[in-house]
Amino acid sequence: MEYMILYIAVFIFGITIGSFLNVCIFRIPDKNDIVSERSHCLSCGNVLKWYELIPVVSFVLQRGKCRHCGVRISWQYPLIELANGVFYVWIVVLHGFAIPSLLYCLCASALLIISIIDWRTYEIPPGCNLFIGILGIFRILIDPARWLEYVLGFFVVSGLFLLIHWITKGRGIGGGDIKLMAAAGLLLGWQGALLAMVIGAVAGSVIHIALMKLCRKDRVLAFGPYLSLGIMISMLYGTLIIDWYIGFYK
Ligand SMILES: [Zn+2]
Repeated sequence: MEYMILYIAVFIFGITIGSFLNVCIFRIPDKNDIVSERSHCLSCGNVLKWYELIPVVSFVLQRGKCRHCGVRISWQYPLIELANGVFYVWIVVLHGFAIPSLLYCLCASALLIISIIDWRTYEIPPGCNLFIGILGIFRILIDPARWLEYVLGFFVVSGLFLLIHWITKGRGIGGGDIKLMAAAGLLLGWQGALLAMVIGAVAGSVIHIALMKLCRKDRVLAFGPYLSLGIMISMLYGTLIIDWYIGFYK
């Protein structure tokens, strides 16, 4: 019962941060100020009141429309909020109320921003990569005995990507992907980073080919969302999957 209340609190915290992520997703690509500008309707410019800013709830109560001009609000807002809330609870259920969970939650939020922005603009915001890198440094500080695993994590996938970047003269993999895998590697350790890369590459090829067939359009691959998926799975189930994999060779 107490756990239930704590999980609900984590969920509410998650959707609240999710609402901030929406702001980042819209303002970072246009280089707008994230904090100083007040939230307003993109259509009529009306500044939103506090009761119009409650994550998920406001969207449902207003039936997805602006209270002033009636324009439809994108489904992306409540979806990002919900996704962030679900991720936070998921992480805490698996890893408990501990500092690594907090680092993973913050990383999951950065990955949400990266996925949407990279999908739309083919750019990974450098600030998000830096943020994940800082989480990685905290990881080493709380788990100094395994520092070498994290430092190797910084280099193992990013090094490989850098090689591909050089060989393909920048067409294969972008600089943002390299930095993302360096930062995430610091947080995950080298095994987790390799796992994230494998999942990202497999998911990327399968889903990208399916999308090209379904949508019949030549779309350049944005690797960020797939790498983010890999990092996410690695954060959630990395230890489990790696132990299971190593078990084959014993
Ligand atoms: Zn409006």
